[in-house]
Amino acid sequence: MNYVDLHVHSTASDGSLTPREVVAQARAQGLRAIALTDHDTIDGLGEALAAGAELELEVIPGIEISAAHEPGSMHILGYFINHGSARLDEQLRVLKQARADRNPQIVANLQKLGMAITMAEVEAVSGGGQVGRPHIAQVLVQKGYVADFQTAFEKYIGNHGPAYVNKFRFAPRDALAMITEAGGLASLAHPFTLEYSSTGHLRSILIQLRDWGLAGLEVYYPEHAPERQAAYKKLALEMGLLMTGGSDFHGSIKPEITMGRVGPNLYLPYELVEKMKARLVR
Ligand code: AMP
Ligand code: ZN
Ligand code: FE
Ligand code: FE
Repeated sequence: MNYVDLHVHSTASDGSLTPREVVAQARAQGLRAIALTDHDTIDGLGEALAAGAELELEVIPGIEISAAHEPGSMHILGYFINHGSARLDEQLRVLKQARADRNPQIVANLQKLGMAITMAEVEAVSGGGQVGRPHIAQVLVQKGYVADFQTAFEKYIGNHGPAYVNKFRFAPRDALAMITEAGGLASLAHPFTLEYSSTGHLRSILIQLRDWGLAGLEVYYPEHAPERQAAYKKLALEMGLLMTGGSDFHGSIKPEITMGRVGPNLYLPYELVEKMKARLVR
């Protein structure tokens, strides 16, 4: 098999498998390469790279940074980043602190709404990595306050929910610089979450991002219907952006997602990685 998955999460952020387990599963599925792209952290990369070397699976050191954008959300993927970069580590520490400040505030809001949940419970489900809303959602489900994960967001902790607390995000330009300064290639994740008004609007956003260092566009993604995927492919070709793709695997937290699978019967060839590598050496 010659397939890859360039968008995968572990317990370093909100996935349910440890970095090593992610690599082992990719290997068991016969994938050729994966990129570990945890939210706002590179803490899982050391373990993932070591497991990759041991189990003979190519692991691309990655990240997914949440950038400030209204409406909707902007996630920027970074690939082939130098995860030993002290500067990157320092910048990511700001985000870690922002989360540490915010999680107890969300929990306090839920308590005010009458739910007996604690930070200790949230930390217990997080698997030891960074803590986020998906973990809070899991606790709400476990304790029976909501029927499922999605309802937790819809009723309480989604961006417009009554328990939501905003957190600091880097401006898109700064997030792109963080990735490129760490030697990486930046790609815009699941572009539809920008909630742009038209393809022309998306194009104008991409032109700006490209000026700031954007190198790729996530064309292949489970939630991209064929028409959307075709539009993104066209934009990437037109704008000289690399095409990237992945499943956004999170393990049992999002059980409908299968690693390596980006659509009904759609898997990504290793060629995507070769094109990224060619861009890196230029
Ligand atoms: P956080 O980084 O703590 O703000 O949590 C963000 C994560 O929560 C996202 O990456 C999604 O996995 C999840 N999330 C955010 N909004 C929703 C939503 N409306 N429905 C389901 N999951 C969501
Ligand atoms: Zn996630
Ligand atoms: Fe994302
Ligand atoms: Fe993701």
